[in-house]
Amino acid sequence: MSDSGLPLKGERGGMDKLEQVYQYIDSNQTKFVEELCTLIAQPSVSARDEGVNDCAHLLESMLSGMGFRVATFPTHGHPAIVAEMDGPKDSPTVLIYGHYDVQPPEPLEMWKSPPFTPTIREGRIYGRGAGDNKGQFYAQIAAISSITAVSGGLPVNVKVLLEGDEEQGSPYLADFLREHREQLKADLAYTSDAPIHSSGRPLVIFGVRGLLCIDLNLRGPNRDLHSGNYGGPVPNPAWGLVHLLASMKDAEGNVLVEGFYDDVVPPTLAEREVLKRIPFDPQEVQKSFEISRFEGPEHLSYYEKLMFRPTLNICGLSSGYSGGGVKTILPSTALAKLDIRLVVNQDPDRVFECVKRHLLSLCPDLEVKKIAGVLPSKTAIDHRYAQCAVDAVARVWGEPPVVFPTLGGTLPDYVFTRILGVPSILVPYANPEENNHSPNENISLDCFNKGIKVCATFLYNFASTGK
Ligand SMILES: [Zn+2]
Repeated sequence: MSDSGLPLKGERGGMDKLEQVYQYIDSNQTKFVEELCTLIAQPSVSARDEGVNDCAHLLESMLSGMGFRVATFPTHGHPAIVAEMDGPKDSPTVLIYGHYDVQPPEPLEMWKSPPFTPTIREGRIYGRGAGDNKGQFYAQIAAISSITAVSGGLPVNVKVLLEGDEEQGSPYLADFLREHREQLKADLAYTSDAPIHSSGRPLVIFGVRGLLCIDLNLRGPNRDLHSGNYGGPVPNPAWGLVHLLASMKDAEGNVLVEGFYDDVVPPTLAEREVLKRIPFDPQEVQKSFEISRFEGPEHLSYYEKLMFRPTLNICGLSSGYSGGGVKTILPSTALAKLDIRLVVNQDPDRVFECVKRHLLSLCPDLEVKKIAGVLPSKTAIDHRYAQCAVDAVARVWGEPPVVFPTLGGTLPDYVFTRILGVPSILVPYANPEENNHSPNENISLDCFNKGIKVCATFLYNFASTGK
């Protein structure tokens, strides 16, 4: 082998370095599962500060014991852990991100085994955090320790960042990255969270949609009124709000707010090709939701609408009386909650200004409030490091992964692409039915094992691509 620890195919001895690492991973599977179970057994519920600091201490000692340089940093929430291990000089650096906090386990009566008593049955490890995210980031750590055990060192520099507030929406992550930009400097960010594709095929993701949440509040009379005694001359805020909402979108699903689409970037040719290869059965999707049609411009495909177009969604609407029987009132207020999924290069603040300008020009009395905003993020699918991940997954799984240029949902991926300015790739390891955020959360032993191998393979691929 080369002195950088790179695997050289056809090396004397017959087996390449990676095959030796795979063998090591297989023969140490019991040990890795036990270590993961120790982690799961330590509760770390960030929502109510249950065991999170203890979990940080546990991780700190586990990682130091494996030869990482470990530093734990206080944040305004729970500690952030940074563990580093150097590869050869001039080799590239990967920043691996994960989170050690978990969702509350309730409802407890729905669990077949207690959430913090990890239990193995039917080829899966059950327990809160098994898939989201302890099992996935521990797979990365197991890969690193397998490589060092076989090769005596890593082929690249590795920095592992473990957050303790992801399940709270990562409120301190952006600031933490801004303050530790130098220490976290890397050539690529690599994250494993979420399940693989619902078809059971592996998945690689290159971006996420952003998010903008807006509350609208339209006031009418200072109290609910008798609709017979006052209806007619006194304006009804429910109608006012309905007209305002209707002014924002046409029947085809196009948003009519001026400037809304200004910064939207259409898919590249390469991305269009990838979209065509995503498994999709429209009938099956419609059947599963009991709907008879899809919305949005006809000329756009399902996945183009989901990944490359922003949405304007009414997620809540309330006014007046909606109970049983008759209550004839003219309501005093009408409220709507909007969520807008943003795509590259939209900016939540700019889009908010467009929406606000549109609404206030029609109704100056409307209250328009921004509740949340997260930037979208994307890494080019033909980035030179993209193939490192795609090839690693394909080699371990024996089939090419489904490639998502962008996830329909939102994650704080922009902290890597915008704050650190590095490409960012998401490689989910968990099985589709991992039950993340639900009772009976689990990770299959097979997915855990493949996750460890994917990470090991990725690190070697990354090394041979170089800086
Ligand atoms: Zn989660």
